[in-house]
Amino acid sequence: MILHFVGTYVSLVASVLFILALRGLSSAKTSVSGNRFGMVGMTLALIGTQVPVYFENLDISLTSALMKVLVVAVLGGLIGYVIAKKINMTALPQLLAGFHSLVGMGAVFIALASFFLTYGMTSANHDVMHVLELVLGATIGAITFTGSVVAFGKLQGIISGKPWRFKRQRQINVIMGLCLIGLMFAFLIKQTPELLIYAVILSLIIGYMLIMPIGGADMPVVISMLNSYSGWATAGIGFSVSNELLVIVGALVGTSGAILSHIMCKGMNRSLVKVIFGSFGSQNKITNSQNDQMHRNVKLCSPEDAGFILQNANSVIIVPGYGMAVAQAQHVIKELADELKSEDISVKYAIHPVAGRMPGHMNVLLAEANIPYEDVFELEDINNEFGQTDVAIVIGANDITNPAAKEDPASPIYGMPVLDVEKAKTVLFIKRSLGSGYAGIENQLFYRENTMMILGDAKKVCDNLTKVLKNR
Ligand code: NDP
Repeated sequence: MILHFVGTYVSLVASVLFILALRGLSSAKTSVSGNRFGMVGMTLALIGTQVPVYFENLDISLTSALMKVLVVAVLGGLIGYVIAKKINMTALPQLLAGFHSLVGMGAVFIALASFFLTYGMTSANHDVMHVLELVLGATIGAITFTGSVVAFGKLQGIISGKPWRFKRQRQINVIMGLCLIGLMFAFLIKQTPELLIYAVILSLIIGYMLIMPIGGADMPVVISMLNSYSGWATAGIGFSVSNELLVIVGALVGTSGAILSHIMCKGMNRSLVKVIFGSFGSQNKITNSQNDQMHRNVKLCSPEDAGFILQNANSVIIVPGYGMAVAQAQHVIKELADELKSEDISVKYAIHPVAGRMPGHMNVLLAEANIPYEDVFELEDINNEFGQTDVAIVIGANDITNPAAKEDPASPIYGMPVLDVEKAKTVLFIKRSLGSGYAGIENQLFYRENTMMILGDAKKVCDNLTKVLKNR
């Protein structure tokens, strides 16, 4: 009894720590302390939920109870540590998708285990609230599982990133959704284990069907949506196994994921419904003849020419994108910025909400290179400044600067807010080729009067630029 009481309080403290962790993670400055709160919270959560359970079971000794928690925590922690050390920053989105799939799978297993352990193969007259919580946790978990596996495959390049479409797709999805609701109702009435299993199988198929048609630029929203689903699945399971901590943590993840999806949709000027059921993100490749035509109008620029332009500038805005992460150019960018600042040139950084391959991707990399937070601005805070800026240096970014989002209603990214880099007096574009970005669409900015392309790897080019400036 006392142990259960202690367990509840430890779980409560863990929940507060998780809230503090979320608060800390909301800004780059406080993210390290946010992570620490999360780690302490998770340790307490393990103790709070596991130890009282073992203690109440008189067959288990104190040492073996503690040993089990310790072994699980050390093993899990070790796996997490190795993954965190090995993973490339560019592969974080797929890692998140992979982790979400585990949460979904866990929810399905716990729901099935809870049903069979409580009721065995019997049916009817079970507690309706309990079976409702179970079926909700299991179905949301199953949708999260296959959806996240597909998102992982697309981001990792195992599955084609192109939207998968076929005739009457939406109608088929709606019918499957209605069938799932029907199955869940039937399960609540008849409560047979077979109906629960059918509902799980149908949910697995729905998760696959839901994410396969989503392509390209919509992936960030999908990831945060799956994050939200995994939270709701956890909360559902928390109710069914009477674990308050799972309910609280699930609700925290569910709501924060939903809020993030909403913010990202706002950032891309999309409704969540359109992201899930629309055709945004489809490929729109340039034809060869168009490409040839455009190549003739491109202005190529050497680091020496760029150095001359920069030397005569008073203000510079740096726009980092996915290519900066690939090239790991953040440290040389800092050197370049320091060199410019030493010449009394104002240097700011403009961050688009979906730059890179995960929310906050650029902020993390810039922070890693010790770039001062006060130099880093979000889209809405800096977009008006491009008009009064001498040089915009776009480093490994593409989609987030593409004016087609403002000018071409036929473009798949039409409506997405983009950085107005073309308003700067000169735009220096650093990338390896004239190829497209993640959304697979051409960027007319490469061919504009005030654009100069410096083709090459972002790290090498920035390094060369810094050397040129230093030697002048
Ligand atoms: P993009 O993918 O649009 O463009 C990146 C560019 O970087 C490419 O065109 C590529 O051109 C260039 N590049 C690649 N490697 C290098 C290198 N070593 N050196 C220099 N350049 C390089 O990235 P953005 O950041 O502009 O936009 C992000 C896109 O990703 C958006 O469409 C967004 O919706 C999507 N997305 C965002 C997620 C998020 O949460 N932030 C998650 C998933 C997708 P080249 O090959 O010619 O060098």
